[in-house]
Amino acid sequence: SSFSTLPLAPALLSNLDSLGYHKMTAIQEQSLPVILERRDLIAQAKTGSGKTAAFGIGILHKLNPTYFAIQALVLCPTRELADQVAKELRRLARSAGNIKVLTLCGGSPMGPQIGSLEHGAHIVVGTPGRIRDHIGRGSINLGTVQTLVLDEADRMVDMGFYEEISGIVSACPARRQTLLFSATYPDDIRKASAEFLRDPVEVKV
Ligand code: AMP
Repeated sequence: SSFSTLPLAPALLSNLDSLGYHKMTAIQEQSLPVILERRDLIAQAKTGSGKTAAFGIGILHKLNPTYFAIQALVLCPTRELADQVAKELRRLARSAGNIKVLTLCGGSPMGPQIGSLEHGAHIVVGTPGRIRDHIGRGSINLGTVQTLVLDEADRMVDMGFYEEISGIVSACPARRQTLLFSATYPDDIRKASAEFLRDPVEVKV
């Protein structure tokens, strides 16, 4: 069905239309009502399903553009995915005014990232190792995060990021929404869900 069945801002709805997103994909149809209710979510969905827009619309629906603090954090397994997610978030945010999306990944020098953090951002997209480094240095404040997304969680766990994710989750407020996306459901993902999510709704496409 159409996005207009959801309680979204008119500007966001017309932006979705201008992006050519006329109908919800299966994952969007199943997850967006849950996400907009601010429930925690564990979703089994692959790349290509439209999962980025699902959590992106949730982030933007909740975001306050006039409050210049990190309100959403998206953790991704690789720089390539983080860049892709940031690009999609910027497209979705076009209608919302001046939203700053910052990517923080390993392999880039720390100095400019610290400078960007000092300038501020509404949304941070990054890889777990580098976000953990920023927490360790005190260069990032995650105390204002309202929405935490663990994207491709199975890949992050496969890459050995469980401990980093755990540390990052601890730096976010207990009162937050956590959305976990994973293509597969191994035991480690069950464990992550139990540890990081609160009473999650499970959806599968
Ligand atoms: P993702 O699974 O997030 O990597 O998205 C796959 C592709 O689907 C991206 O190129 C999106 O721009 C596109 N997309 C997401 N949602 C929709 C939609 N409702 N209608 C059409 N295309 C979409």
